[in-house]
Amino acid sequence: MSKRDYYDVLGVSRQAEATEIKKAYRKLAIKYHPDKNPDDKEAEDKFKEAAEAYEVLSNPEKRQRYDQFGHAGNSASGFGGGGMNMEDIFSQFGDIFGGGSPFESFFGGASRSGGGGRRGQRGTNLRIRVKLTLDEIANGVEKTIKVNKQTNCATCSGSGAKNNSSFNTCQTCGGRGSVSRVTNTILGQMQTTSTCPVCNGEGTVITEKCTSCRGSGNVRGEETININIPAGVSEGMQLSMSGKGNAGTRGGMPGDLIILIDEIPHETLKRDGINVIYDLYINFADATLGCSVEVPTINGKAKIKIEPGTQAGKILRMKGKGIPEVNSYRKGDQLVYVNVWTPKAVSKEEKSILEKLKGSKNFQPQPGKAEKSFFERIKEYFE
Ligand SMILES: [Zn+2]
Ligand SMILES: [Zn+2]
Repeated sequence: MSKRDYYDVLGVSRQAEATEIKKAYRKLAIKYHPDKNPDDKEAEDKFKEAAEAYEVLSNPEKRQRYDQFGHAGNSASGFGGGGMNMEDIFSQFGDIFGGGSPFESFFGGASRSGGGGRRGQRGTNLRIRVKLTLDEIANGVEKTIKVNKQTNCATCSGSGAKNNSSFNTCQTCGGRGSVSRVTNTILGQMQTTSTCPVCNGEGTVITEKCTSCRGSGNVRGEETININIPAGVSEGMQLSMSGKGNAGTRGGMPGDLIILIDEIPHETLKRDGINVIYDLYINFADATLGCSVEVPTINGKAKIKIEPGTQAGKILRMKGKGIPEVNSYRKGDQLVYVNVWTPKAVSKEEKSILEKLKGSKNFQPQPGKAEKSFFERIKEYFE
């Protein structure tokens, strides 16, 4: 299933400003809201799609990555992430529709989490570095890594309560999770609503804490995670796997796992964007007479032909032997820069041969007949 462009989803231009994006999303969220479209799978998909697009485009960092790398920038193919669940989406509404959530009043104000108990706190994001060889970058790789993180306590299923049932309805808020206060102002009576300070908005209080996690609902643990890294990533790039970070508390959403890409330099090949550069040295005789040489590539060795009369500085292009562009079908080339080795020391015999050759007509430089000037070669390379 291929994802639609986020800008298309929201129906805004790539230059759209934050307020425009917010407005566009708000419109779609209202149109496709599940309360308005009960049992309509298509509306639900549209609702989720819009939420995901908004999630990325409303975050400057994520938006920049998306502009640069497309969908792979934030949740690469096979990342398990991407899709947001309903809880995620509803938690997003707070900042879109303002603290008081006028959104709820559109639909009769029913709280989606049902009577008593709001969701707990979202877990924090977890950052890890993954070191990749040039070979892994060129071909894409699946890494299995162990991550030390906060996980839900198995004893109490993350509730923090002993026997998973030691709850009482919060006396302060009566289970609503929020408290209202009426104050007199010059404009008349005003009612303000805030999160209940006793239960932190959860609506319930724990009467007896779970002994394994001491009531927090979380314990430190290790998780083995498979990460599919798409071909073409580069140093400093960040990929995120949604929901693979630290567990939330008491039913809160888990955070994301942020993967930072580190490149391990290759012994002989140098990466330049999607191209790979190799510095080849041949001797003067081979440059004159032509030869066949073996050069390393990211996928093993390959033979290339050196034509007779090859000038030093010539750049040979091995088409398609470079690195794929992330999230695209484009692929770079390997560029072989030909250096002609000048001996640093010669024997008496070699010296006398060279003395004889040096005056010969064929040995006199003919700059106009060199295949391309240095300037042209540089220009061609950067095209
Ligand atoms: Zn309370
Ligand atoms: Zn526990």
